[in-house]
Amino acid sequence: MKPALVLVGRPNVGKSTLFNRLTRSRDALVADIPGLTRDRHYGHGKLGDKPYLVVDTGGFEPVVKSGILHAMAKQTLLAVDEGDVILFVVDGRQGLSPQDKIVAEQLRKRTDKILLVVNKTEGMRLSIMTAEFHELGLGEPCAVSAIHGDNIGELIDLALTDFPLEEETDLSAEQHPKIAIVGRPNVGKSTLVNALLGEERVIAFDQPGTTRDSIYIDFEYNQRQYTLIDTAGLRRRGKVLETLEKFSVIKTLQSIEAANLVILVLDAHNHISEQDAHIASFIVETGRALVVAVNKWDGLDEYARETIKYELGRKLAFLDFASLHYISALHGHGLKRLMPSVDEAYAAAMAHIPTPRLTRTMLAAVAKQPPPRGGMSRPKLRYAHQGGSNPPLIIIHGSMLEHVPATYRRYLEHTLRKAFDLKGTPLRVEFRSGK
Ligand code: GDP
Ligand code: GDP
Repeated sequence: MKPALVLVGRPNVGKSTLFNRLTRSRDALVADIPGLTRDRHYGHGKLGDKPYLVVDTGGFEPVVKSGILHAMAKQTLLAVDEGDVILFVVDGRQGLSPQDKIVAEQLRKRTDKILLVVNKTEGMRLSIMTAEFHELGLGEPCAVSAIHGDNIGELIDLALTDFPLEEETDLSAEQHPKIAIVGRPNVGKSTLVNALLGEERVIAFDQPGTTRDSIYIDFEYNQRQYTLIDTAGLRRRGKVLETLEKFSVIKTLQSIEAANLVILVLDAHNHISEQDAHIASFIVETGRALVVAVNKWDGLDEYARETIKYELGRKLAFLDFASLHYISALHGHGLKRLMPSVDEAYAAAMAHIPTPRLTRTMLAAVAKQPPPRGGMSRPKLRYAHQGGSNPPLIIIHGSMLEHVPATYRRYLEHTLRKAFDLKGTPLRVEFRSGK
């Protein structure tokens, strides 16, 4: 699992600025997907070969309710409990504030993985800036400037010290789907897991001391092999209701990262929410294969069904590459069709397309509709090859390709997706200009 860095601190100390710094390396290829929610509260980052996740709790709720005991609300505390390193951010220009002390106190009670970050230190004498923060008893502060990018590399290095450089598992080498089942609380994830695994196996797993802490569960469905990634403890929850406060952003992100395929579960008895869209966006950004399951399709009248379909089209249009299933996990309806879509999406994500076929298809698309001129020059697309899988990455070579507009990239994506039957996986098209 990638380590999760969690940003905590009172408002205006520079958390979201720092967040942007830490997630600079985010994938530019997904920047132009229309409808994708630009959530600025969680994202990916990488320092050298060390990948990590970043969560900014600043967006979760006000951190401090003026001096009362409960300085941080539940979502933040949950993120603190589940994060790997807490970056406690303070403002070096304002100096130590009473609110900082309250937050520090709360943090110290819960965790010892705190790194004190003194921000806004550009152009200042560091020893003077950081001196007063020693009082917080959180060890040596790390001075940075989020705006100028000063000392950010050192900060990440420090934060990741205890995380050895792990060899990134080559997802494209997996032999079968590694599935994360994600969605908001109460949409029916546990029920779906139980239905897929079969009740008996779930009971077996619940024996204390057996596989209790294992998050990878191998199972078979219709004689096919799958692995379920269960960071959120779905299989042992059974009928216990999870409250909104217990929704774990970090576990959701980590299981999406660890999977090669995601089943996104939505609740037909509720509206499609912003949180649904945020999770969906993260899945697409991460490039995972995807199957969408609209659950609780039982007991709905025609009007309610049409309403949900309309909302799906409007709010999650960017998921149109994925198969959509209306299911009832409770009654076991629709699973027989759901799982073949899982196989199909997995196969698409792992597809290997030979260079000649790719090039031929790309050139045919260009002949049918050439790219528009960019200023004085017309981009020239010469050949295409596949640069990776899960998701498939198509690299198109030629000249003046920096002038190819996003709409044209989408046209090519669409054409390639259709030609090679890539249902259920994001597809990345990258341009490389030679001289
Ligand atoms: P948040 O509320 O903690 O997320 O803080 P923001 O990231 O929104 O930043 C609050 C203000 O501090 C903004 O006006 C930022 O431009 C400013 N700020 C953030 N980082 C720095 C920094 O490194 N130096 C200075 N001088 N200002 C900063
Ligand atoms: P989770 O929090 O996403 O894991 O959701 P659960 O699996 O715990 O389900 C939440 C509630 O929704 C429980 O009361 C389930 O019985 C109910 N539920 C789950 N699937 C269905 C379904 O297909 N139809 C109906 N009507 N209720 C369901």
